[in-house]
Amino acid sequence: MTLPSTACADVADTAPLPATVLRQFDVAGPRYTSYPTADRFVEAFGADDYASALRARRDAGASAPPLSLYVHIPFCESLCYYCACNKVVTRHPERAVQYLAYLERETRLQAAQLGRRATVSQLHLGGGTPTFLSDAQLAGLLAMLRESFDLAAGGEQSIEIDPRTVNAERLSNLAALGFNRLSFGVQDFDADVQKAVHRIQPAHQVFGLMADARVLGFESINVDLIYGLPRQNDASFARTMDQVCELRPDRIALYAYAHLPERFKPQRRIAAEELPDAETRVRMLSSAIATLTAAGYVYIGMDHFALPGDPLAVAKRQGRLQRDFQGYSTQPEGDLVALGVSAIGRVGATYSQNAKTVDTYYDLLDQGRLPVVRGIALSRDDALRRAVIMALMCKGRVGFDAMGEAHRIDFRHYFAAEFAALGPLAAQGMVRLTDHDIEVTAQGWFVVRAIAMVFDRYCRDNRTRFSRVV
Ligand code: SF4
Repeated sequence: MTLPSTACADVADTAPLPATVLRQFDVAGPRYTSYPTADRFVEAFGADDYASALRARRDAGASAPPLSLYVHIPFCESLCYYCACNKVVTRHPERAVQYLAYLERETRLQAAQLGRRATVSQLHLGGGTPTFLSDAQLAGLLAMLRESFDLAAGGEQSIEIDPRTVNAERLSNLAALGFNRLSFGVQDFDADVQKAVHRIQPAHQVFGLMADARVLGFESINVDLIYGLPRQNDASFARTMDQVCELRPDRIALYAYAHLPERFKPQRRIAAEELPDAETRVRMLSSAIATLTAAGYVYIGMDHFALPGDPLAVAKRQGRLQRDFQGYSTQPEGDLVALGVSAIGRVGATYSQNAKTVDTYYDLLDQGRLPVVRGIALSRDDALRRAVIMALMCKGRVGFDAMGEAHRIDFRHYFAAEFAALGPLAAQGMVRLTDHDIEVTAQGWFVVRAIAMVFDRYCRDNRTRFSRVV
């Protein structure tokens, strides 16, 4: 198979974009873990619509696409001030007992619609803090899931780790439960920044856990970082990036902090005057990209880096990347059944989201109902734009003929306005427009979200709701 040049391009070979260019793209935008994005979900889409989508999957039998499971554990022991996640901060571990009982009810309801023991190729536990659960509770959760689903041998089993909640013994127990991928929430190694965001976790603790995880043979270890946090500056973040390179995780997710205190209450505890200004943020990003690429990391696409031998980097070289709610993925495009409070699933041409509060989630399950409270059934235009946006973000290329045939449109005619909007990006060297395709250039990968946004019918009026593009 001949792959488009940009799908094969290793961006590590390319000079990262200078801060002056990145600055031009520093506007708010979605992360496109879904399209349409979650702010477009409507309450008119409910549990019955979701149940229909599950039954359609059941009726598709062997031709149904691969299935992933996401389980949301909302509890955290302490509050990080930058947090925009759906979580419940509590010092009462017993709250998990009740939650797990409700998760079991939801799992049974969903599995009943699916109609048979579906094979799951990818399982992800996210939060909140999944390791809020004890090892025994995690073992019970896995056993409960196995009663309704077959977890495929050799499939991906990943879990988000708050380094403050685990030790070598717990990591060993996670390995014994079949978890083969870990994601450590690090954010920043600087003690002053950690204090400002109320998340104290000394670097030596993370280095120790990484060493333990390596000995235990976890296949791929990710580290999450955030730039734009209070008290970060060029020098402090450069030190953090040097430490990250020394830590050498297989994957790195480098997110921009979006300060939206009117939407996310914990962020009101962050002193706005301690936030780095826009120029500093962009400089930090630019130099972080330079540091990581110089250290041998491949820039995968929005926010994500991986070592060249990591499956994510291999998938990028081979044009097989996908995008899901966890970011980039190597799994073939498929359905995602999501379990737990606020969890978002994708089944067929629908997205659905569970109740956002634990109380409503419990209430709906007490009534014997699936706890879906909103979602969306994709229109033909949504499905087409989703395909275009995902192709740009994952493959760096959209071919007009193939996309036009698949969606029965004349691509250039349908997207005439978008072609006009791509003009300035082409002039800046971020995309190449030919008679038969759009290609993201090697430099364009650094601002691929801005390129994708051109095809987003909804985002124009909503930009302030999203994080910055770079
Ligand atoms: S950032 Fe993670 S650990 Fe911190 S409060 Fe939010 S969900 Fe909990």
